[in-house]
Amino acid sequence: MPELLTIEQALEQVFAHVHPLPAESVDLERAAGRVLREPARATVDLPPFPSSAMDGFAVRAADTPAELPVAFRVAAGAAPPGPLPPGSAAGIATGGTVPEGADAVVPVELVEERGDSVLLSAPATAGQHVRPRAGDVRAGDVVVPAGVRLGATRIGALAAAGVSVVRCSPRPRVAVLATGSELRSPGSELEPGQIYESNRVMIAAALEGAGADVDVLPVVEDDVDAHRAALERGLEADVLVTSGGVSMGPHDLVRRVAAELGVEEVFWGVAVKPGKPLAFGVRGETLVFGLPGNPVSSLVSSLVFVCPALLALQGLDAPEPAYVPGRAASPLRRNPHRDEFVRARRVRTADGTVLEAVRGQESHMIVRAAAADALVFVPRGDGEIAAGESVGYLPLD
Ligand code: AMP
Ligand code: MG
Repeated sequence: MPELLTIEQALEQVFAHVHPLPAESVDLERAAGRVLREPARATVDLPPFPSSAMDGFAVRAADTPAELPVAFRVAAGAAPPGPLPPGSAAGIATGGTVPEGADAVVPVELVEERGDSVLLSAPATAGQHVRPRAGDVRAGDVVVPAGVRLGATRIGALAAAGVSVVRCSPRPRVAVLATGSELRSPGSELEPGQIYESNRVMIAAALEGAGADVDVLPVVEDDVDAHRAALERGLEADVLVTSGGVSMGPHDLVRRVAAELGVEEVFWGVAVKPGKPLAFGVRGETLVFGLPGNPVSSLVSSLVFVCPALLALQGLDAPEPAYVPGRAASPLRRNPHRDEFVRARRVRTADGTVLEAVRGQESHMIVRAAAADALVFVPRGDGEIAAGESVGYLPLD
């Protein structure tokens, strides 16, 4: 194996080969999870008119305290019949338009209604319970900038600001395949020497979390012709992700066959544990990730390398892995040569999150990994991270 790249170097190489997908127009109803590519601006002031925050009576604050005649009532969704006559009050519903002249709303629970008039025994303050026009945003101002992902809050904001269509990135089309003659689908009977294939559904789940539109291809035997056919098909996607067959064994065919099909290898081998034999290449605009087959290696490589590449393809502002701060619950031995991702459980304590490594850290132990909800980053080096020391982690699931 050639000199191993660091994680940072490998990610840098990946990003250097990413060209964001061309943006498209998407109806807001279908835009959740997409990355916005052009700033979206408000079509109206929000609120579009001064509106009441309470059910109550709109008044001139200077007229209070007093008993005032009720000039008219304003329901939500209707314009007031006119300005508020001096020395009077207007009944108003939450969200109703505060009539011109009024500058305060007195909540209904603080007044005494007396037929056609209302007794306001306390003075009102100008501005109370009135939501000023454009208090949230002004027409033409940016509601959501380019380069961010649209979640519930931003979708809600865009709708409120009158935006119905947004310029977004398409979901990257990702083909996922697994190689290995020993692999059978869960649900079928295992013959001697066979195991259940776990990586395709796992990788698909991880990548869908980063916005991918995943096409799961059939399992590929360790045979050159089978590899050729499967890789050729997978190379039609924006991103091809393979599992297994990237190590040094005689049945590890992915890199060789990919090269035959015109994939230019950018790197092979990263100083990370698990996941060292990761291969990355390109053919035209298609990115090709060859993940090692051990399930935990495939998982870590997906989260640390493939997801960031997908986010960059979608034009996300900060696509690199976002480490969350926590503290080690007990000492973590450093690997002198490779950065390591330790599967751990998050435990909330009075002074923050501590991370307890789960038992069973070998790269085939995917079920042990399922007890974890964090991947703790342990930078390569000598000695150990002491109990209580700060670490960064990536949340799992
Ligand atoms: P490989 O990277 O092909 O050398 O595979 C390394 C180890 O991971 C072997 O023990 C394989 O049986 C196992 N493995 C490879 N691919 C998968 C898969 N898709 N699902 C479960 N285990 C796998
Ligand atoms: Mg294999």
